[in-house]
This record gives sequence, C-alpha cells and structure tokens, in this order.
Amino acid sequence: MTHPFLDLAPLGADRFASIEDRVARLLATEQDVVITQGEALLPLEGAIRGTAGPGTTALNVVTGPYGQTFGNWLRDCGATVYDLSVPYHTAVTADQVEEAFAEHPEIDFVSLVHAEAATGNTNPVAEIGEVVRERGALFYLDAVASVGAEPVLPDAWGVDLCVIGAQKAMGGPAGVSAVSVSERAWARMAANPRAPRRSYLSLLDWKERWIDGGRKALLHAPAQLEMLALEACLERIEEVGLDEVMARHRRAAAATRAGAAALGGGLEPYVHEASEAAPVATTLRAPSGIAASDLVARALETAPALPLAAGGGPLAKEMIRVNHYGADATREAVEASLTALAAALTDHGTDVDVEAARRAVAEAWRR
Ligand SMILES: *Cc1c(COP(=O)(O)O)cnc(C)c1O
Repeated sequence: MTHPFLDLAPLGADRFASIEDRVARLLATEQDVVITQGEALLPLEGAIRGTAGPGTTALNVVTGPYGQTFGNWLRDCGATVYDLSVPYHTAVTADQVEEAFAEHPEIDFVSLVHAEAATGNTNPVAEIGEVVRERGALFYLDAVASVGAEPVLPDAWGVDLCVIGAQKAMGGPAGVSAVSVSERAWARMAANPRAPRRSYLSLLDWKERWIDGGRKALLHAPAQLEMLALEACLERIEEVGLDEVMARHRRAAAATRAGAAALGGGLEPYVHEASEAAPVATTLRAPSGIAASDLVARALETAPALPLAAGGGPLAKEMIRVNHYGADATREAVEASLTALAAALTDHGTDVDVEAARRAVAEAWRR
C-alpha cells in the first residue's frame, strides 16, 4: 500500500517554479520570489547577511523580539546599526523613521517587522516605505505574521526584501518560507563580498543557479512535503479569496478586543490603539496581581487546543496572546478563548461578565 506522505513522485523544477509564481501572485509582486527551504528565519537571516556589511548603515526598527534579532545579525555583519525602539504596546510612525534619517542621513538600509505576533502590533509599512524610498535606502520587511491577515504589497510599498512564512495567517506549513527580492537588492548582494555564497544561507546561489538558469534545475532536493503543503495552502487561499481570509483575521482581532473589554475583570488590550493592533493575533494585558502565564496555564487545562499563549520571556508575567490565525481565525475560537480566560479569572476570584463578552464578540463579528 502506498503511504500518503512517503511514496510520493519527485517534486520537479516546473512544479517548484509554479509554486513560486503563486506566491508572487499572492504578494502582487513582479520581483523575483525564492521559496527558501527552511523556516522563515532562513530567508530573514540570509537576506541580511546577503546585503549588509561593514559599509552598511542600518536603521533597525524594534517593535518586538524579532527586531532585536535583526539588529544582532546586522551588527554581526559589521554594519553600523541605529536601533529605533518603540514600546511594544504601540507602533512605529513614518515620522519617527523620517527623524532617524534626518539625524543619520547615511542610513542605507532599513529593517522593519510588519506585524509582530509576539507583541500584537502592526506597523504602517506603506507610509514608512515612502520615506525609505525618498532616501534611497534598501527596505527589508518581515511580513511573516502579516501575510494573509492584512495586505502585504512589496511593489506598491517599495519593499526590496519581503520575507513571508505560511505558518501564521496563511494556515500553512512552517518548514518552507519565501522572500521577494528587488533588482536593487540583488545588485547590493552581488556587490557584497561578504554575502554568503555556496551556503545554505545564500540567496545569491538561488539567483545564479536557479533564477538566471531559467528555473530549470533545483540546487538540491526540495522539502517535498512542505512544498506540497504550501501549494495546497495557496490553493485554499485562492479558492476562499485572499480578501475573505484577511477579513476573517480582522474580525477575529476586533472581536477579541471588544470581547476582552466587555469581559472586564481587569483584562485589557495590550496594544492601546486598535489601529495599531495586528489582525493576526491579539495581545491582552493580564489584570495586575495575576501572572499572565498562570491564567493561560489554567485556561488551557480545560481546553488545551485553544490558541492561547503567554508572552515570551519577560512578557510572560503581563501578556496573554490570543493567536487567532489560520484555522483559528473564527468566531468560535475567539469566543472559546475568552470563555476559558473568564473561567481562569473566576478561579482567581475575579468578577467577569461572560455573557457581555459573548455579545460583544457576536456584535464585533457582524460589523
Ligand atoms: C512567527 C514569526 C516569525 C517566524 O517565527 P516562528 O516563531 O518560528 O514561527 C518571524 N517573524 C515574525 C514577526 C513572526 O511573528
């Protein structure tokens, strides 16, 4: 008997190229798209190591833990790095980016995370892109947590390196990822003596041996199962419609915010402004005196499949994450998550109004 995961026909170059074309359509981009054979950290790191070096002056925007990681890679490449950090409960503004350029006109690289699932904020990439383009800097964007939940438009926004993964709002696999690369970014890499070559981190290898060769021969055996899962996930998004997938995430975020507010008990949206809250996941501030990680652990005791998590590292004390993305971008998942949090709060002796939360969720979902 053939096994559905094991006994597969080889995945050829044609099929691989057609999946890349589908990703390009999803991003409405004319740029080259490379599907990288690893989790999104692979192209995130590969794109920085490919373009940055001792001659680089980078503006690294930090709105969450990934921004910190990018700054570390940039420094490791020898770049001069100016970190622009904003509190995790807010977003960066185009004006702040403009001010950074005014202070350091030599900035020629900007790294930004679009939406942060880990902190629940989302940044105004279109507006920031205008500033970056005016200054002629290379624009690097981590859109892993935004793609599928809100528009991601590298060409319209002037993004030179746009990295996506399928494991969040796309509801797809985590083991492959993709990056769109502008002509300017390729030129920067080609001119960078430190860019990885003949390396798993090398995007240039894919440019020279895959793209420039007309996408006829793959560099190595592809991650076949993950590629098939990515193809299936793109197919599903095309069937349902990207707009509908994004609308579900928007509704889930609005419903979670409204439901948490109606629930009471001291639970509050972590990101102050709704306009700066990411559609992919909603973060909540635990009531003072109760550790978020305790609340989440208690909520998950009765319902282990709910998309609830405490914040990472030091945020575990104060932040609750409702990861309403992919298959969990539903009214049911939002309602069940808030109900489980309500039960945990009640156990702590806190008064909450579950019925009001349910009504608020239903109302926000209809809007
Ligand atoms: C989720 C995410 C990634 C990918 O990281 P994993 O934790 O491995 O899924 C990268 N960047 C951002 C902003 C993310 O939210």
